[in-house]
Amino acid sequence: MIDFHCHLDLYPEPAKVVAEVAKRGMYVLAVTTTPRAFEGNLRFVGSNRRIRVAVGLHPELVGERHAEVGLVCAALLRTRYVGEVGLDGSPQHWGTFATQRNVLRTIFKACCDQGGRVISLHSRMAVQAVLDEIEQAGPIGTPVMHWFGGTPDEMVRASGLGCWFSVGPAMLNSKKGRLLAAGMPRDRVLPETDGPFGQSRGKPLTPWDCELVIPILADLWDMPLSAVEALMSDNLRRLVI
Ligand code: MN
Repeated sequence: MIDFHCHLDLYPEPAKVVAEVAKRGMYVLAVTTTPRAFEGNLRFVGSNRRIRVAVGLHPELVGERHAEVGLVCAALLRTRYVGEVGLDGSPQHWGTFATQRNVLRTIFKACCDQGGRVISLHSRMAVQAVLDEIEQAGPIGTPVMHWFGGTPDEMVRASGLGCWFSVGPAMLNSKKGRLLAAGMPRDRVLPETDGPFGQSRGKPLTPWDCELVIPILADLWDMPLSAVEALMSDNLRRLVI
């Protein structure tokens, strides 16, 4: 089981979630919203090699925390994973959009300098702008569009730029999300939950709720469940060394 975008540290009792993840033998990309949280996550994840910690600076926090971008770049020496980073174009964050873009450019440049990273990207109401940045940045590594909410045309463009996609139960609850997932390049899709932000039926998703994604993809792609599971494992192996 794979959850490629989860905020392990934002559950009320992270240690319990980490223990359950270990018990189930799950693979998790633990994204973080600040570089300081990255340090804390490394500590509580410990030696579990199936949980990888990404260093992030969430676009919603860039207004108050843009000065921490240097810490993100420094942390790149210690992880192959970056996230959650990106741009948020929703009205309440429009005021910081120029700063968000500068921060993202700095992080992308550092990723290039380090030979590329796997980058979990937020793009709410800013898909075009995020794709523009990816296009202009050069060899940043592998961008993974998390909870992609663009148009089918933007999905095709992202695909052409080499993007992967992480899709979760909340995204696939909507008709639009299912339509997008149906057309995604299947060898570049991974499950996610975005828990505890991601919710289903009013409750925060747990990392193991990522299994909800499998039957939906099986249906959309007209594939047996076991084949979708095998494909997701294969995708993860190709992305994560
Ligand atoms: Mn998130």
